[in-house]
Amino acid sequence: MTVNEQRRHELADGLAAVRARIAAAADAAGRSADEITLVVVTKTWPADDVVALGGLGATDVGENKHQEAEAKHAEVVQEAPSLRWHFIGQIQSNKATHIAAYADTVHSVATAKVARRLEKGAADHGRRIGCFVQVNLDDGDGADGRGGVAPDDVLSVASVIADADHLDLLGVMGVAPLGRPAAPAYATLAACRDEVAQTYPAATAMSAGMSGDYEEAIAAGATHVRVGSAVLGQRPPLG
Ligand SMILES: *Cc1c(COP(=O)(O)O)cnc(C)c1O
Repeated sequence: MTVNEQRRHELADGLAAVRARIAAAADAAGRSADEITLVVVTKTWPADDVVALGGLGATDVGENKHQEAEAKHAEVVQEAPSLRWHFIGQIQSNKATHIAAYADTVHSVATAKVARRLEKGAADHGRRIGCFVQVNLDDGDGADGRGGVAPDDVLSVASVIADADHLDLLGVMGVAPLGRPAAPAYATLAACRDEVAQTYPAATAMSAGMSGDYEEAIAAGATHVRVGSAVLGQRPPLG
């Protein structure tokens, strides 16, 4: 499974450019780039790209749809066994046990029910899964349909994860609202992270930032940025 030279160069250049900007943003925020995990979002791109990214030093990849993620993981896992797989999309609770079969980290835990199903799946497969509670940053109207629990309810979902034997509560995740400045949303998310960490001191992670705003997210304290198009190119329009 290989990509052509031109694609390999594009991916190498994309990765290098994003890494450089992460380092600069961390520096500007007085943080170390080592605190920040780049999750390369490979949704809609073929398995060969994922293998190539692994060969170029990417350590973490993200997918947002269960069927696509499951198939791609199966295609890639033998050639790139050390990649860590992050599930970042909305989860139908009947899929959660299946996601637990391949995901190392799930960023989009938004209900107690999904947390319980992930725990069951992790137990069935004898694995541990890192979990973020997804926070809705849409000012509570949920109009973007991007999912997540209201900021006031974060602790209730966090407690289900923290009490589960096979789940590790890592922190909180958010997607900035479309068409509005990201900084206030990420400040809200950082406050949620601080609140969670007061009760669960190990849960200090914050997953925030996409191609358009990961530098702002790093300024606000993100520890995991989820970057797709800035590394892989513009996704083909959804069919
Ligand atoms: C697609 C996606 C990303 C990456 O988006 P880009 O703009 O391509 O960087 C990040 N987070 C989530 C939840 C996504 O669905």
